[in-house]
This record gives sequence, C-alpha cells and structure tokens, in this order.
Amino acid sequence: MNIFALDIGGTSIKYGLFENEELVFRRETPTNASSGGEVLFETIVKLIKGNSADAIGISTAGQVNADSGEIIFATDTLPGWKGMKLKKRLEAMLSVPVAVENDGNAAALGEAHYGNGKGYQNLVCLVYGTGIGGGLILGGELYRGHTGSAGELGHIELEPGGRRCMCGGKGCYEAYASTSALVSQIKQYVKADFEWDSFFAAVKAGSLPEALIYKRWIEYVVAGLKSIIHALNPACVLLGGGIMERHFIIDDVNRMVKATIMDSHRNVLILPMKLGNSAGLYGAMYSAVREYRKQKDFDIS
Ligand SMILES: [Zn+2]
Repeated sequence: MNIFALDIGGTSIKYGLFENEELVFRRETPTNASSGGEVLFETIVKLIKGNSADAIGISTAGQVNADSGEIIFATDTLPGWKGMKLKKRLEAMLSVPVAVENDGNAAALGEAHYGNGKGYQNLVCLVYGTGIGGGLILGGELYRGHTGSAGELGHIELEPGGRRCMCGGKGCYEAYASTSALVSQIKQYVKADFEWDSFFAAVKAGSLPEALIYKRWIEYVVAGLKSIIHALNPACVLLGGGIMERHFIIDDVNRMVKATIMDSHRNVLILPMKLGNSAGLYGAMYSAVREYRKQKDFDIS
C-alpha cells in the first residue's frame, strides 16, 4: 500500500511517500503561511498530485476534528487555516481516503507504532520547539478527550500570572520550558546572535549566566514532566524537538525527575524520540492506513 504523508508546520511542510510502511522519499518545502489558508491548500494539492497513493495522511499544526478532518482551531502561525475542511475537499478532489491529525497526536502515533514507544500501552510524547506539542497514548489508543483537544500539555499552568503564552493565557509550561523560551532568555542575558554549541560549552564549563539560564530552563522542563507523569502514570515519556537531540539534556531530565518524583512513579522511562522530525509523517501514515481500511470495509459491507 502506498501512502503519501504530509506534516504541516508554521514554517515548513515535510512530505514523503511510504511504500508498505517504509518511507521511500522525504522532502521539505516552505509553508509560506502568511499567504493564507487557500494558498496553503493549493500547495498541498500540488505536492500530492503526481504521486500515486492509496490514501493520504496529514499531520498539521492546530486543533483537528479527526472524524471530519476539519481544522477547528489554528493560531496565527497558520493564518486562515481555521475552518479548512481538509479531508472533505481533498477526498472530493483526489478520490482517495484522507486522514487528518493534529501534529502532536501524529508524533505520538508515529513513535507509539514505529519508534521508541513501540510495545507500550501508555505513553506520552512531547515535542519542544516554538511551543510544546504533546500527544497521549492511553490504553494503546490515542486519547482525544471530550472535544478532541486533549494533549495540550504545553498549556499546563506552572506560574499563575506569569509569562504571556501564545494561547492568550499566562504562566503556561511552554512559556518557560519550550526552546523559544530558552532562546529568549539567552538573547536577553547573553547575546542576541548566540550559537548553540558555544552556549552549551559555557553551560558545561559552569560559566555565568549561561549555567544559571540552563538550570532554570531545565527545572521548568522537569516541573511540567513531573506533573504529567504523576497525573497519567505512563510507562514511558518520549522527548523530541531539535534541542532534545542533545542527549545530555535527556540525561539531566532523567536524573532530576528520578530524584524528586514519587516512589510509585520512579520506574517511568524518559527517552528521546526515535523518529526525530519524521515522527509526524509516520503518525500521518498510520492514520491514513487506518482510514483506508475503514473506508474499504465500509464499501464492502
Ligand atoms: Zn498557553
């Protein structure tokens, strides 16, 4: 079975073709989000056309109604994307099954079925970037919640009345523990045009203010993780996003979580994501295979 998968973010669209669950090519193109939702839709159609696929899987930023495949909410990172009836329009145009999933959920599905979460029934996936995206697999299934918006882990409130968040609230986890939050602290207290390697070299050497900035950031990373682990008791927590590819950060997180978490939760595994920034594509592919089977079965009956 051939599945064409796309992962739509605020700055780039990743896309690729899977043949029997194997990614045979993967490319990336700018989203040009400021051109609006209709231009983005046309871009997606152009990327899909010319590939013979049995089904299409889409992972996208924003909140998604996975049944109707409609974008129910999108922030200013994707202007004009809210209200887009992605599944309905693409299926009418291309005559193949289309599955649409939120990007945090897609990453969790990808890791749960093809990555480091394989074999676990209860796991949490967190992606640290501009914000903090999340996805929950509970009892072996993606947990969507009452209105399909579960897994907004970046908006756990850590500091009431604290820093402003992109959601309109204050004091959210992602306002303190995202990569952007770390970047803004470095820009403010070190220098605007810093490089990651030299920043982390200074942290390791114990230089100030770098070591202090890192310490405060990772304390917030850990504070949010502990709340999530205490609430859900997952078997494993997978951490992704470019910054988590520096595995000493995951070592530090492990050490700090294990030092202060309740005894009954100490056996939780905290691991890097295996599929990196392809996790969303794998999750989109997984959803597309499911949608294909669902529609086929329906056709037969
Ligand atoms: Zn928030």
